[in-house]
Amino acid sequence: MASGHGATLKDVDGNTYVDLVGEFSAGLYGHSDPVIMQAVRDALEGGVVLAAPTRLEIELASLISARFPSVERLRFCNSGTEANILALMTAIAVTGRKRVLAFKGAYHGGVLTFPPDGNPLNIPLDVTLANYNDVAGTEEMIRQAGKDLAAVIVEPILGAAGNIPATQEFMQMLRRASSECGALLIFDEVKTSRTGRGGMQGQFGVFPDLTTLGKYIGGGLACGAFGGSADIMARFDPGAPGGLKHAGTFNNNVCTMAAGIAGLSQVFTAERADEFLATTDGFRKGLNALCAERGVAMQFSGLGSMFTMHFTGRTITGPADLPSHSRSLSQLFHMFALLRGVLVAGRGDFFISLPTSDAQMQTVRETVDDFIRVYGNLIPVRESQPA
Ligand code: PLP
Repeated sequence: MASGHGATLKDVDGNTYVDLVGEFSAGLYGHSDPVIMQAVRDALEGGVVLAAPTRLEIELASLISARFPSVERLRFCNSGTEANILALMTAIAVTGRKRVLAFKGAYHGGVLTFPPDGNPLNIPLDVTLANYNDVAGTEEMIRQAGKDLAAVIVEPILGAAGNIPATQEFMQMLRRASSECGALLIFDEVKTSRTGRGGMQGQFGVFPDLTTLGKYIGGGLACGAFGGSADIMARFDPGAPGGLKHAGTFNNNVCTMAAGIAGLSQVFTAERADEFLATTDGFRKGLNALCAERGVAMQFSGLGSMFTMHFTGRTITGPADLPSHSRSLSQLFHMFALLRGVLVAGRGDFFISLPTSDAQMQTVRETVDDFIRVYGNLIPVRESQPA
């Protein structure tokens, strides 16, 4: 790609695309939001690396904390990966335990990923993997790990595995079972924090001990954050004996802080976040209705502005529910859409950004419909309704 403007990308050959990759959710504000651009320009005028805490980080921390009441205090870092590593190591330090429970198919960063064939680059934590949305099985695993378990880490919507939402019952069980065995519950809301004003914890009304954030939270610039109760985060008090030390040269870089503040206070306000969730989820449901109407075993799972195309009509509760042909057909759609000027992720993920116009949304819908018309013979016939 050569450049971006609003929700449009231009490649090096001069072709333009409706950008439905949205930098895998970091691009919530699009490519040229004037408020964010001005905030970055102003920040640059004031000096780039100030070598000390600044007012900006307090302001961004306060804005985040107001949106996510479980995040009473937080610390900034430079990516979602870093936020998750720090949250897990915090849990290990605070509990004095070593084991971590995560979920098959989860993605918590480049060195914390759990695909079916494993990842040799993962950091060497003692991780046990459970099945997503398996209430009884996971509860039993947590109970068995008992006093060895430092943390349970979960994405409230299993993102890279296909935007598969957790059930309310599953999240409530995680909260209860983690507390019972004294493990810290970590919600990785690096992507899902954009679902309404308070992220998925707000939607579920289930609150973790620690939350990790990233992606759009720094206005589209490199950013990560982790935080939780004042009690847990007080362990980082540098003045306290044995206080945990968290250093990082760029942890409070002024451009990210300024862009994040402008974004949360002026663009993606609490009201806008709720409204965006409602309109984008209406769009997603409309695509599901289209698939049903056309009689194809195809659906869009997820919530609001983040969803994934799957080629099955059955209810999806975890990666094991996805048929093997689904990924290949998604890749075919990816190529088909590219040729029509619509860019979605190769694995079938769609991320809608704030500046996406009604006309662009209509183009996306028509592209899906055209795909069904042209390649409908490859898509299994629908047997049941989508979830
Ligand atoms: N957690 C989740 C749920 C993610 O989707 C990602 C990135 O896609 C990360 C963590 C890692 O964030 P980053 O790429 O900023 O390191």
